[in-house]
Amino acid sequence: MKRAFNITFNVMSLARSQRRALKKQKNDAIEKTLKHGFQPDQTLLQRQTIALAAHLIGILGGNSFRRASDATEAAMRVLERSNKTYPFPGLACKKGCSYCCYLFASASAPELLLIRRVIEALPSQSRNLIIKQIEDAPRLDEEGRWANVIACSLLISAECSVYRARPFNCRRVTSVNVKECISTFERTDDATDEVPYPAVPMMFADSAKFALSAALYAHKLSYHSYDINSAIKILMSIENAEARWLAGENIFSGAIIDGPEIIDEDHPYDAYIIEIAEIASQ
Ligand code: SF4
Repeated sequence: MKRAFNITFNVMSLARSQRRALKKQKNDAIEKTLKHGFQPDQTLLQRQTIALAAHLIGILGGNSFRRASDATEAAMRVLERSNKTYPFPGLACKKGCSYCCYLFASASAPELLLIRRVIEALPSQSRNLIIKQIEDAPRLDEEGRWANVIACSLLISAECSVYRARPFNCRRVTSVNVKECISTFERTDDATDEVPYPAVPMMFADSAKFALSAALYAHKLSYHSYDINSAIKILMSIENAEARWLAGENIFSGAIIDGPEIIDEDHPYDAYIIEIAEIASQ
């Protein structure tokens, strides 16, 4: 398996003073990442991703029955801080523009659990509308969503009703050219489901997602993604969803899944997540 980093080592083989120095270094890196967010430098970003993963591993190791959605929220706050510090010039995205919400949208279980929390806190009118939209939504996979221009069930009046908890896969979709978004929305002959996203916001969103995935892996929890429409439909119909998922119940078994539900150490994505998890757990 090709390693993404070459700095793994066994902490227990170090002297106590070296372990203390390492722990301090790690805590400093976590503090800086939480305070300032990510930086658009590949090497620094890798270290900050590991630091964030270490922080999230700590949250997931707690006792809260909301620890999965809490860890997700913590990763999202770092991402928001990063985008605030390094705003990407010329972004075409603005309030009320929702062309990308007509593509297949997916999220991991903890992201979905956070969305459920946010839905529960919405005014009853919005909550009821979401429930109706979820009930009415046809059950479609990625191909089906591409063939049928259907909105995400969480979209209300062209705005994301769970904006502060929108998943990483939605956050990485930004655009500098609304014409491309429109041609994708209209599925014109030359359209693809990949709008040309600017690199920095995508890198930041991916790093936050990698950190969360690695922390989940470190706690033997799934980081696979599910179709939002079918997964939220399940979530809205069951009680104690987060506690049950944390206890190992596969509450999303009926949801459409985005990619295979197995971890393949030879796949570059899974190998990278495992690598981050190993280093962040030291
Ligand atoms: S979760 Fe929000 S941002 Fe993402 S597709 Fe649905 S409405 Fe759009």
